[in-house]
Amino acid sequence: MAKLTIVIPLFNEEDSLGILRDQIHESCTKADLGYEILFIDDGSTDKSWQILSRLASDHENVKVIRFRKNYGKSAALAVGFSEAQGEFVITMDADLQDDPYEIPNLVNKLTSENWDLVSGWKKIRHDPVSKTLPSKLFNYVTGKLVGLRLHDFNCGFKIYRNEVVKDVHVYGELHRYIPALAHLSGFKVTELPVIHHPRKFGKSKFGMDRFLKGFLDLATVLFISRYMRRPLHFFGGLGSLFLAGGLGINLWLTIGWLQGEIAISKRPILFLGMLLMILGIQFMSTGFIGEMITKMYSRSDSYSIRTKLNL
Ligand code: UDP
Ligand code: MG
Repeated sequence: MAKLTIVIPLFNEEDSLGILRDQIHESCTKADLGYEILFIDDGSTDKSWQILSRLASDHENVKVIRFRKNYGKSAALAVGFSEAQGEFVITMDADLQDDPYEIPNLVNKLTSENWDLVSGWKKIRHDPVSKTLPSKLFNYVTGKLVGLRLHDFNCGFKIYRNEVVKDVHVYGELHRYIPALAHLSGFKVTELPVIHHPRKFGKSKFGMDRFLKGFLDLATVLFISRYMRRPLHFFGGLGSLFLAGGLGINLWLTIGWLQGEIAISKRPILFLGMLLMILGIQFMSTGFIGEMITKMYSRSDSYSIRTKLNL
């Protein structure tokens, strides 16, 4: 079994693939690292597939999975993760922006300091300002909310222990939050500055909409990690606040009416009281439905177990 599995998601990167394979080979051989490369062709429409099949027939340690259509980077990573056999798993982009000569440094950092995940940090970045500036804000907010300070959550270049990739569940576009997901599952996560090159061939596959989607995904990550197993604490908490507010207002109006002060229909605040009560009941019901779903699907294997003794 190869010690290292290098997972590379790609979409239309025909010009880079051969060079990338050669550089990885040179870097790993020099550092005496056993490796296999697992390319995930995410529905490329250029010549990537022809090039990959040639690489796979020339080299036994080059493995390729081809999607029928373009599912996105997270899907490619998820499939790569479930197939990865190596004790350590590296992910990197296929566009030669990540430098294979950093592979031994990542391995070294992970093993010598006993981390579970080391995330690359593109300290000197070769991307336009329109991308680097929002990215700074993104990293800052994510770090604050998740409780893990990293300069560069979204760097594609990372190394993991195999148990991390089998544990984190990447779907949608959650690949941006892998370090956050791992940290929230209790893994030890850190970062290491890595060299970053400008894109030589082809073009970037992600536009500006990545930031809006990114922040929505952050809300998902935070919500799922906190309330997945106890949805009523979230919905019920908000719901009871609304319900109490609504009941309070309407009770106050009723007392006034009983004392003969003023007709309730002449009090506009009645609408607020009613609205709050309806909202409160809706939130509570959503919470109860959430609890039913949780009860149906909760299993003991959804907890991340570090060690077992005498078992
Ligand atoms: N990628 C992919 N599927 C997609 C979009 C991108 O597998 O739908 C791959 C792409 O080929 C590259 C990596 O994900 O290997 C990072 O993409 P890109 O370089 O476009 O992102 P950027 O560097 O601009 O953040
Ligand atoms: Mg790139």
